[in-house]
Amino acid sequence: MALIVQKYGGTSVGSVERIKEVARRVVDTCKKGNSVVLVVSAMGGETDKMIDLANSLSQSPPDREMDMLLSSGERISAALTAMAISELGVPSMSLTGRQVGIITDAVHTKAKIAKISADRVKQAVKEGIVPVICGFQGITESSDVTTLGRGGSDLTAAAVASAIKADACEIYTDVDGVYTTDPNIVPEARKLEKISYEEMLELASLGAKVLKTRSVEFAAKYDVPLVVRSRFSNAEGTLVTKEDKDMEQVVVSGIAYDKNQTKITIMGVPDKPGIAATLFKGISESNIVVDMIVQNISHDGKFADISFTVPKTDEKKAKEISDKIAKELDAKNVSTDKSIAKISVVGVGMRTHSGVAAKMFESLSNNGINIMMISTSEIKLSCVVSKKYTELAVRVLHEAFDLAKKKKAVKKRKVKR
Ligand code: ADP
Ligand code: ASP
Ligand code: MG
Repeated sequence: MALIVQKYGGTSVGSVERIKEVARRVVDTCKKGNSVVLVVSAMGGETDKMIDLANSLSQSPPDREMDMLLSSGERISAALTAMAISELGVPSMSLTGRQVGIITDAVHTKAKIAKISADRVKQAVKEGIVPVICGFQGITESSDVTTLGRGGSDLTAAAVASAIKADACEIYTDVDGVYTTDPNIVPEARKLEKISYEEMLELASLGAKVLKTRSVEFAAKYDVPLVVRSRFSNAEGTLVTKEDKDMEQVVVSGIAYDKNQTKITIMGVPDKPGIAATLFKGISESNIVVDMIVQNISHDGKFADISFTVPKTDEKKAKEISDKIAKELDAKNVSTDKSIAKISVVGVGMRTHSGVAAKMFESLSNNGINIMMISTSEIKLSCVVSKKYTELAVRVLHEAFDLAKKKKAVKKRKVKR
């Protein structure tokens, strides 16, 4: 019947009991005549624990060693899951990134997949064995272990699905699909039946961690249909697929927030050509992705303050580079602000509808939320606000754009007199 890639995240394999549940689900799917290829994350919380261990030993642990360390989490969960499946009478075998042939570049801790052979996966499927692949990891051409960035098992799943030409790639998690916003913050959030790759890409890159950005990128490029589903139930999930006409009718499809950004400001930079180029060249050479950039010119027009945001994980490196460049440029000083959050509204309908910006700014201001930075693209609008307003901002915008579950009309009860 079908060849299905199923990915289970950290919470789904967080204990022996949960691993047994995953094994049961996999075996049920196999018994229906399907072939299953599994991708698992490390047991919930394990990756964070390892990062804490490393940080307790070193101020800036070498990225290569971090990859060696962090990749061990997925080995444990994959081996345990393979044992649990075998216990239920279906042969199973764990495979590391290397054994699957996931070749990446050498950018440790956020490596990009260059190619993937998946020969052993195909062979196992042919022999009726369920392969359980360690998510989040690969190997460089020179045999160093790499990891694909936090949440990288989603990317492993999409990449494996495309390599073996799977019929479906199912991402099982603790929510039953992609919602109009994080249902853990807004209980009224509505589950989407389907969402375009492009919108999902924006939502993911703007903080909706339900799918990793690069897994969506990969799926879009190779036309892999992704389905986000619940590990608790058989409810239909959300299909991430190509854009269709219906999708454009909806102006705003979702709201994302990201609390893991830091704002860096370089103050008193001489206002002359080439300054921004020097700064951002230095930052990009360290593989750091800069998001928002704002430049303010001082009243006398001679100096400028440049602010930009980077992911918190890159803050240390970005600050070091900024300090160095600020010194070279004779700038006044460099400051960092961790107490920010980015709130974004996303929708392909924004291409053809106006008024989204006005509504967003008005809703935030009516609730006393000050906007520090703004950035836009064709299908998204983001504002940086103080972190303490994150949840409020998300709720307010969710309501303003009317994204909640449609309430059923309440029938008026006849009152007997
Ligand atoms: P896993 O461990 O299975 O990879 P994650 O924690 O990475 O799971 O992703 C699932 C979480 O994503 C949910 O618990 C939810 O809080 C969060 N989330 C954020 N935005 C959304 C959204 N728009 N729809 C669904 N979940 C979202
Ligand atoms: N274990 C890794 C993380 O916690 C990868 C993943 O869960 O997808 O980020
Ligand atoms: Mg995840």
